[in-house]
Amino acid sequence: MKYPFLDLGLINKPMEDELKEAACRVISSGRYIGGEEVTRLEADMAQLCGTDYAVGVSNGLDAITLILKAYVRLGRLQHGDGVIVPANTYIATMLAVTDAGLNIIPVDADPRTMNIDGRAISDDILRHAKAIMPVHLYGRTAWNEILHEMALSNDLLVIEDSAQAIGAHSTIPGLEGGHVTGAIGHASAFSFYPTKNIGAIGDAGMVTTNDAELARTIRTLANYGSDRRYHNIYCGNNCRLDPIQAAMIDVKLRYIDAINQRRRENAATYDRYLTHPLIIKPFIPEDERDHVWHQYVIYADRHRDNLRDYLAGNGVGTDIHYAVPPLHQPCYASLECSHDFPVTDRLADGIVSLPISEMTSPEDIKEICRIINSYEPQS
Ligand SMILES: *Cc1c(COP(=O)(O)O)cnc(C)c1O
Repeated sequence: MKYPFLDLGLINKPMEDELKEAACRVISSGRYIGGEEVTRLEADMAQLCGTDYAVGVSNGLDAITLILKAYVRLGRLQHGDGVIVPANTYIATMLAVTDAGLNIIPVDADPRTMNIDGRAISDDILRHAKAIMPVHLYGRTAWNEILHEMALSNDLLVIEDSAQAIGAHSTIPGLEGGHVTGAIGHASAFSFYPTKNIGAIGDAGMVTTNDAELARTIRTLANYGSDRRYHNIYCGNNCRLDPIQAAMIDVKLRYIDAINQRRRENAATYDRYLTHPLIIKPFIPEDERDHVWHQYVIYADRHRDNLRDYLAGNGVGTDIHYAVPPLHQPCYASLECSHDFPVTDRLADGIVSLPISEMTSPEDIKEICRIINSYEPQS
């Protein structure tokens, strides 16, 4: 592929010397679980988000699951309580809810933002819900005035899935905790899966919160349920953050502003040069900080598969996020909730993700736009 969708080796190349130096530092330290690498990344993430606490964990799925399980331990959620989630998300959002013994209440997407549609949350849903999990899908902040008002007046716990949106910023007024993803809700989960805007050299995740009790409970649950050595208050798990990954992420975090800005520039370049009449482009938010462009997702309706073949034939790598909505996965076939989400289904059939990473240059993007604009639909 002349224009690969995402070349992870290339992404890490500019920082290779710093990454190697950090890896060597961990190897020489003799400390391979916990320690100062983990503590440093936690402090840096808390600072980035403006939260009091950050707890390093093994991956993004564990980050969401631990938040929910900690709320259950603390009695702030009970088994069987409903958690509002977007129907249009990566499956991890839902797996965490089911794994914590809670009930999924899916809500359809707003076709304009592709994020959860607050207008689709009925009074009946609110009667059954104790928490809401906004997912900042593709890097666009999902939180808005409708959801904020709803969460306040119904006393909902707000748990952000910020896996795709590190460094994004909500511009709505009245957010007490802060405006950066990670501080918008009561707790937030991050993933450093290698393809994310800030990706580790393996698996890693983080929880951020201003809630001291929650942070302490998550730390305990993630470390065998042990609050001090050989003293286990919970039947916990091992979900600790690997210090070598913490060291890798801390190197990459130094470049977060440049990385997110390059992605914004790429989105702006697509927006300017992509003119094919059959393609719907994602809208650029009024305030650019709203979006960190983890993915640039266009909608090509029934031309999607032909367009992808055409692009592959012209050296442009693409992907689909996600081809099968989580509720259509076999594991959720018997779930007792509505499976009827027309916007989510329509999106899944018509979306294509184009190359957007910082390693795709504006010139590459202009060329990709030229190729797309020359696409002739098959009848
Ligand atoms: C990547 C991702 C996760 C899970 O993160 P992992 O680190 O892969 O476990 C959760 N939610 C969303 C929206 C994601 O994109």
